[in-house]
Amino acid sequence: MTDTTYGFDTLQIHAGARPDPATGARQTPIYQTTAYVFRDADHAAALFNLQEVGFIYSRLTNPTVAVLQERIATLEGGVGAVCCSSGHAAQIMALFPLMGPGKNIVASTRLYGGTVTQFSHTIKRFGWECKFVDFDDLDAVKAAIDDNTRAVFGEAIANPGGYIMDVRAIADIADAAEIPLIIDNTTATPFLCRPIELGATLVVHSTTKYLTGNGTVTGGCVVDSGKFDWSANDKFPSLSQPEPAYHGLKFHETFGNLAFTFHGIAIGLRDLGMTMNPQAAHYTLMGTETLSLRMERHVENAVKIAKWLEQDDRIEKVTYAGLESSPYFERAAKVCPKGAGALFTISVKGGYEACVKLVNALEIFSHVANLGDTRSLVIHSASTTHRQLSPEQQEAAGAGQNVVRISIGTEDADDLIADLDQALTKASS
Ligand SMILES: *Cc1c(COP(=O)(O)O)cnc(C)c1O
Repeated sequence: MTDTTYGFDTLQIHAGARPDPATGARQTPIYQTTAYVFRDADHAAALFNLQEVGFIYSRLTNPTVAVLQERIATLEGGVGAVCCSSGHAAQIMALFPLMGPGKNIVASTRLYGGTVTQFSHTIKRFGWECKFVDFDDLDAVKAAIDDNTRAVFGEAIANPGGYIMDVRAIADIADAAEIPLIIDNTTATPFLCRPIELGATLVVHSTTKYLTGNGTVTGGCVVDSGKFDWSANDKFPSLSQPEPAYHGLKFHETFGNLAFTFHGIAIGLRDLGMTMNPQAAHYTLMGTETLSLRMERHVENAVKIAKWLEQDDRIEKVTYAGLESSPYFERAAKVCPKGAGALFTISVKGGYEACVKLVNALEIFSHVANLGDTRSLVIHSASTTHRQLSPEQQEAAGAGQNVVRISIGTEDADDLIADLDQALTKASS
């Protein structure tokens, strides 16, 4: 089913899926196979030439993974998607066709800790560079873009700080510079935020989080809006010029608005090998079926709990864009009208020590390096996820010493409040 006129609740269950042609199985089977038998030698040649679309080898394509790709692409309003082994793999997959030695990206300072590390250090080994800029300073974003910039990168709802990016304003800047805007939509999900409608070219996900929703598998996805003209200038030769890694195929000319998706599969997955396995795709497909239901409850609980925390004397500050006190409250209504997510931070009176006591004393909340689970989760970012960052980078990312990140689950809000209450009492004693 691919009719995009259906509503979100229908599409999250049906998009990409059809009864199994061999057995009629209603649920998408887990195609646990490495390879696929060619009809004959001509069929095999056509597949390898990309003249016919089909299945060759599961590093490239797999029918279970293909359903998930179509489902996420549909939910995001994109033309195609490529799933991969993790959210971090998705980021490399998104950048790979655009970049080359000496090229750079301009990224927000407010990003997931692991992304800051990936962009500050690891991508340098490829000869890529990242310039971090405060995305609220639009002039600084414009000034950071130079002739070698190949993408702008930000998170719609930033992890961890309760920050909302003005996606439309940044998209306009990227458009003027004729480069794509990549949005990490992990913490918002397509239910809360639709970056492509706001002007994004590509959307990346860690499907590990809300899309799967139950903390079972890691995965990632790159969604293409299909709207970018890769041939408008000579900045993207892998897409517009003969690609030497695929016997001189011109991806944009051959595949039109699906160029990026085909490149992601035919070159990205083929050569980088960051493949999602069909078991992981199965768990994530199960998760997507209830995405909107979960996100509504996540948001409802987050608002209730953030309000309770905000009035508590043991708390210095709550950074949640769903609170009227947040400087991003009005922007949130435009960028993510169905809610500002369920991820926020609290600054606890008593600093580092109190934070450590708090995470130790919580009973329902689990102290883990994850978010976007049905379970409520908590982490002291400064001693864990943001540990590799300098104190300045920690502050900029909203992960200072006295800051605890909370990912609100779908349990009873009153139980979560009672748990926070008892743990805060222990933390302040
Ligand atoms: C978790 C996360 C990532 C990385 O995803 P993995 O699946 O852990 O590799 C990237 N961006 C955001 C916003 C995340 O929350």
